Amino acid sequence: MAFGLFFGYVLWKSGIAMLRSMTSLPPEPPPSGELRKVSRRYRCDVCGVELKMTMAPDDEPPPPRHCLEEMVEVAPLYD
Ligand SMILES: [Zn+2]
Repeated sequence: MAFGLFFGYVLWKSGIAMLRSMTSLPPEPPPSGELRKVSRRYRCDVCGVELKMTMAPDDEPPPPRHCLEEMVEVAPLYD
């Protein structure tokens, strides 16, 4: 009797844990081809202009070009 109660309790608990893990899963990353949020800063070595990239089709986007040169990535600021 006590064992049955305990077993039921464990089943009930694991059922809740399962439900919880199903509902609290982080959203899957979007498939490649979709835009994703990035935070990268680039600077043009030639003229010094800086820009921030906030959306890119990839987590590792190729650096944009400016003054016919590839821009260099500025160390990200952790703010
Ligand atoms: Zn430039």
